Amino acid sequence: MKNLRDFTHEELLAVIAGLGERPYRAEQIFKWVFFRRAASIDQMTDISKAFRERLKEEYEIGANKVLEVKRSVDGTRKFLSELEDSSRIESVLIAEGDRLTLCVSSQAGCAMGCKFCMTGVTGFTRNLTLSELTGQVFSAFELLEGEERITNIVLMGMGEPLANYDNVLKFIGVLTSNMGFNFSHNKVTLSTAGLVPAIKRFGLEGNVNLAVSLNATTDEVRDKLMPINRKYPLDELMAALRRYPLKSRKYITIEYVLISGVNDTDDDARRLASLLRSVPCKVNLIPFNAFPGSAFKSPAPERVERFHYIIKQSGYTVIVRLSKGAEIQAACGQLRGACEA
Ligand code: SF4
Repeated sequence: MKNLRDFTHEELLAVIAGLGERPYRAEQIFKWVFFRRAASIDQMTDISKAFRERLKEEYEIGANKVLEVKRSVDGTRKFLSELEDSSRIESVLIAEGDRLTLCVSSQAGCAMGCKFCMTGVTGFTRNLTLSELTGQVFSAFELLEGEERITNIVLMGMGEPLANYDNVLKFIGVLTSNMGFNFSHNKVTLSTAGLVPAIKRFGLEGNVNLAVSLNATTDEVRDKLMPINRKYPLDELMAALRRYPLKSRKYITIEYVLISGVNDTDDDARRLASLLRSVPCKVNLIPFNAFPGSAFKSPAPERVERFHYIIKQSGYTVIVRLSKGAEIQAACGQLRGACEA
């Protein structure tokens, strides 16, 4: 059986043509699946029973199986989903003021091997399909309470989204389509470890916010923390960010995990400020969360404050992101891996 959550509107047009039906049926089905959140083909009541029966011979609406939900006192909810091949992924709903952000995983595991990240340490299984990506949004809808609604989506969970480029681009299309989940482009952010050729392509095709997980100011340190830097070193990455096409008043988010004694000195802060010259950006500083087995330590609060001060004095918008949900290991770098959420 094929899962209708795996099809974009364009792909459904081809399916419908193959079944000898009129093109408007594709729009009807797409809306039922993503906008109206139908759980079964039988719910598509404006489609004739005969055609629904025909669809059901080959298609269904399948969901990710949520195995476990953990809630933290700060309102953060982390959920673990099992996929058809028994791969497991984690996603997090993060409550912050009037924002409720869903952090989505793009891969089961991750091949990037960043040393400060639990996913990087556990390795790569495979890319997620469109239904597995959208399935995390549907699962999150089930966890909402009262008047809650998801305001933002970040692709910062397990995996490197740009290494699953085609499916992630389809996912962004479904997220932002007014026939799909109907999120504003401004409310969706993709975070990358720095796949330079894919960043260039995404600049032309992505149309949502970009965040880059930088974490070091010299190739020597970044090579050690993030092996992808050996392939795409800092000068290539920064050149791609300088050329990244941004609409007016838009910026790239630079994420910088502060790790005690590794990348948190005053010199690091000054180098970061000069590295970011002529990149329209804002900076998120994320104090590292130590996890079991990690060789790194969290920075002292005074270090974080001082680093923040230097970046701010250099003229940047900079915030320190306090990790949410630390006690349920839903904080930055603590999903059975995660990028900086
Ligand atoms: S930080 Fe992101 S890119 Fe790096 S290993 Fe973790 S999940 Fe992968």
